[in-house]
Parts: sequence; structure tokens; C-alpha cells
Amino acid sequence: MSAYESASHYFQTAAGVMDLSPNMQKLLLTPEREVKVQVAMKMDNGDIATFVGFRMQHNSARGPMKGGLRFHHEVDADEVLALASLMTWKTAVVDIPYGGAKGGISVDPRSLSGNELELMTRKFVDELQDVIGPDKDIPAPDMGTNAQVMAWIVNQYEKFHGFNPAIVTGKPLELHGADGREEATGRGVGLLTEALLGKFDRTASESTIAIQGFGNVGSWAADYLHSAGARVVAISDISGAFYDSKGIHIPAAIAYVREHGTLKGFETEKMITNEELLELEVDVLIPAALGGVLTKENAGNVRASYIVEAANGPVDPEADDILQSKEIIVLPDILANAGGVTVSYFEWVQNQQYFKWDLDRTRNELSKKLTAAFDKMWSIATEKHISLRSAAYLIGIGRVGRATVLAGI
Ligand code: GLU
Repeated sequence: MSAYESASHYFQTAAGVMDLSPNMQKLLLTPEREVKVQVAMKMDNGDIATFVGFRMQHNSARGPMKGGLRFHHEVDADEVLALASLMTWKTAVVDIPYGGAKGGISVDPRSLSGNELELMTRKFVDELQDVIGPDKDIPAPDMGTNAQVMAWIVNQYEKFHGFNPAIVTGKPLELHGADGREEATGRGVGLLTEALLGKFDRTASESTIAIQGFGNVGSWAADYLHSAGARVVAISDISGAFYDSKGIHIPAAIAYVREHGTLKGFETEKMITNEELLELEVDVLIPAALGGVLTKENAGNVRASYIVEAANGPVDPEADDILQSKEIIVLPDILANAGGVTVSYFEWVQNQQYFKWDLDRTRNELSKKLTAAFDKMWSIATEKHISLRSAAYLIGIGRVGRATVLAGI
């Protein structure tokens, strides 16, 4: 099943519970605009390289479209569109005044030099600058992009449009970024994991956790949960999966990655495979890397009690059915990882107002937004006897649908 088919499946399941008419379903599923551009450039050695870039603008019923830019070799139109639609429901679930979009370039950024990465980013902005804008569509970091890439984007965009810090979020602090944006997605994952455990009268400090992926999201989530007293027994990245029954010292792992680039060589009790990590007997499994990691092939082997979807789309619909039949509770991506876009919203608000918040304010507001969304999702799921995913979609689709009808079609 493709990424877009998976995302549409979850939409349709919730739309069925809501009795949404087929015509309204079609309207809400159809993207507003799909942009595909050529990004051609000269590489350091003089060779010409041609990349394909996308910006999928799914829905703007509730405000300017919002979503990250992904530089990854697996990026294609289907995946970007799926991720754009997830952004529409995600911004609606946490009730921030945005629609949904996503972009990306099909490239392995590690194969580029620093100069090439910068040039490719700037050329991409040249192609997109008239379809994005602070009140139109606001990009942000995602896989393979970071604050530096956002700095190049804002600088290139400003060459066309003048001073415009609100054109992207996730910028460096020196260039109107927000304190707390970098940690936000992982922190949100941590906060929501605690909220979920709390519903079962459990705490992080009596829980074991396995985290797949130790990039921005996975490492900050690990850090938050480790500080809350959880035993993070496994983490992984491209160099493999690392297991320690007594719990990995997360600050040491983060310091190691900062020094060496990856976890390769990090000392731990034993190495396990990526598959073994997903199938560990832990309380909480947090997939925080690519989409589509839990499928019908391996979902039956999952032994965690709770899954918190820090990545976008880590569980495909067939796996989701299997997990539900095993009574494994899944906290869905459109809420679980919404901390990032929520603090992106705070960054954009600060940029629009030329007023900087301190870290405490950002953390408090983040916690308020996520807790309110979590409580609403929980009560709908309980009341209607549906999964947390369907409840979250119900909230998102309801808000977008009502805005669409009220504005007039
Ligand atoms: N790329 C992140 C996501 O998937 C953040 C998007 C944003 O901050 O706009 O939610």
C-alpha cells in the first residue's frame, strides 16, 4: 500500500464514522495544488545535476498551509502528498490556524557537499518563491533538512520579497528562530507518552521504552523520557540498534552522536537488529524514523503495550488492524508528533509580532495545546468506542470540514 493510500485509508475510516458524504470526502481528500519543479545545478566538479522537487499544497481551509521540506532519496510525489494531507489533519487536531502542505527533493543530502546543498536549496526556493509565503504556505524542517537549510531558504526568499522571517519556521535563533523549536517534536512525543501512560495509571518512571530513530525527534523524545525517569532500553540509527537492559544513558548517547555524527561505536550491552528493536518486550515502542516500518509482516510480533507514532505514517493500515486486534494502543502521528508544528506556529506568531518569547513560555504553551488536543481525542475515542487514530482524524476532519462549509464552496 502506498503512503497516500495509507493516509487516505485512515481518513476514510474516520469519515465513515462521521457519515461524511462521498462528495465532501472527495473535496477534503483532493489537494488544492501540486507543484513539481526541476532543480538543475552545477556540482562542485562542474557536472550538471538535475533533481526533482515537490511542494504539495493539500488544504488551506483553516489558514496558510504549513509543513516541512524533506531531502531524502525516497521522496516522491505520492509520499509528499500523503505527508501534506497528514499536515492538514495535524494542524487541525492541535487547533492552530493553518492548513497542510509538504515538500521535498528526491536526493540523498549526505551525498552533497555543503556548497551543493546550499545551492540546491536556493535553486529550489527560486522555483517555489511565488507559491509559498508567510500568509500562503510556510515550510519548515523535516527529514534531511535543518535550521541551516531554513536559513538559506529565508535568505533566498528575501531576495525576491524583502524582509520576511515568517516565510519558514525552524530557523536558527540568530535569524528569528524560536527558542524551543528544535526540541519541540521530541518534547511533544515525551509529554504525550506521559499523558497516555497516565490514562492507565502508569508513569514514565516505571516504564521501559524502545525508540527507533535517533535523529532530531527520537533523540529529544529519548532525552525527555529519560529525564522523566523512564528506562530507555533501546535506540537505533543507520549504524544499527543498541540495547541495554538497565537503560541507556541518553545524555551520553546524545553527546556521542554530537561528536561522531552517528551512534556507530557507542558502547552498550549488546547490538540488536532493527527488527528486533520493533519486537522488544517493552511498555512503549516509539518509531521515530521513516514511515511504513510496521506492516502486516511484523505487526503480529510487536510485544509493546503502547506505540507512540513519533514518525509520520510509521504504521500502515494492515498493521494497524493487527495491533488493534492485539489491544495495543497506538497514539497516532497526527497528534503524537504535532509538537513540532505547534512550536513552528509560535515561531511564526513571534515573527509576525516582532516579539520574542522565552523558553518557559514556549514550553508552557506547547504543553497546554498538546494536553487539550490529547484530552479531546481521548474523550471522543472513549465516548464513540473508536481508536485514538480515528478520534484524532474525527477532530481534524470535523474542523476542516466545518471551515470549508462556513467559508462557502
Ligand atoms: N516536519 C514537521 C512535521 O511533519 C514540522 C512541520 C512544521 O513545523 O511546519 O510535522
